[in-house]
Amino acid sequence: MQYTAQLWPCWGPLPEPGSGPTDTAAPTIRRTMVTHNDIESALRRVIDPELGSDIVDLGMVKGIQIDGGSVTLTIALTIAACPMRDQIESDVVRKLEAMPGVEAVRVEIGAMDDAERAAVMSQARRHARENAEPTMINPLTRVIAVSSGKGGVGKSTLSVNLAAAIADQGHSVGLLDADIWGFSIPRMLGAADLRLSADETRKIHPALVAGIHLVSTGLIVTDEDTALMWRGLMLSKALEQFLRDVAWPRDLDYLVLDMPPGTGDIQMALARLLPQAELVVVTTPQKAAQKVAARVADMARRSFMPIVGVIENMSGFTTDEGKHYALFGQGGGQELADDLGVPLVGRIPLDPYVVEGGDSGAPAVRAHPSGPAATAMTLAAKELTELVPPAQDETCTSRIAVLAEQLAAMAGD
Ligand code: ADP
Repeated sequence: MQYTAQLWPCWGPLPEPGSGPTDTAAPTIRRTMVTHNDIESALRRVIDPELGSDIVDLGMVKGIQIDGGSVTLTIALTIAACPMRDQIESDVVRKLEAMPGVEAVRVEIGAMDDAERAAVMSQARRHARENAEPTMINPLTRVIAVSSGKGGVGKSTLSVNLAAAIADQGHSVGLLDADIWGFSIPRMLGAADLRLSADETRKIHPALVAGIHLVSTGLIVTDEDTALMWRGLMLSKALEQFLRDVAWPRDLDYLVLDMPPGTGDIQMALARLLPQAELVVVTTPQKAAQKVAARVADMARRSFMPIVGVIENMSGFTTDEGKHYALFGQGGGQELADDLGVPLVGRIPLDPYVVEGGDSGAPAVRAHPSGPAATAMTLAAKELTELVPPAQDETCTSRIAVLAEQLAAMAGD
């Protein structure tokens, strides 16, 4: 079949002769056209952390203009000088930029008038009444889901070390081992013999291990029968239970999730249950791993989950004499990050201290903080907390106080 320029969409390069289909099949390259509904669905995942509802429901989205891949949004905040402005704006941009077909996002921020503000407050109150929080996770808690396309790339190792390094920055951190039956975190934190307990309201309490609030199937399963029962549960159901039936502390700054490898139900469930969740994709430097990881990223985009960045693990080994061996190839992490348009948050070298730490129950960032992998993981954690800063709840209180004052003033008019 002869290609003509007309047959190919004008935005794609003309294919090399012989590189396209040779039969009568139509060319399949299509640019994803983003629609008003797609944008609105993505914006429904941006939660105003103080008001506990999404910005569409709260009537903050005043305009959506789409021009090809460029999206311009008009957002009205309750107060123009709102302290949450940056957080809402960056959440909006990251959620939209994660969508296929969106190339540029511009956000114009304005303020609501008194009537709109009153409507928002009553909407927020109604929301709080009617939609008792679906999970036990505070909407102010930042959720970082550590994912990989396949097992064995160091996802659990990174989850543990990132959680420890973030806690060492002074944040309150939870760690949920959502790798329901491939759980390895309790062992990595030296807590394999611990068991979780439940209180009289039948809520499970996380174990406080090494300063981290930890929940894992490995801390529940006591015998083969219970293990089988958990195996019978769909992964997404198990995740749901861990988010609804665990009394997570209200003041968690971060919840790190060690996701099961691969894609599918669990990501969808996560996007539904924790709209504030953001993904970190772990890959090794080799091309094959990069391709598998790209599938996870694609899935995330389809569930409107923003990708914070990529971490490349097992990025070569350097001997004491300074000789470097790229044992698993090189460049895969950077390429994946470039493809996804997200930062490469870290490149973690191979380091025997990591294996030792995993086996002895002391994460490398704590046991050997100056080792090569620990240094790189601590830096990655710092970069992550800069990209996803903790929500500032003191300012929230002041914002709510201002709103309450204004409402009282309006009521008195
Ligand atoms: P996953 O959760 O992706 O299945 P794990 O975190 O269990 O992977 O890691 C698999 C194995 O690789 C473990 O034995 C772990 O100690 C080892 N490992 C992970 N990252 C590194 C690293 N940077 N250097 C050396 N060993 C590593």
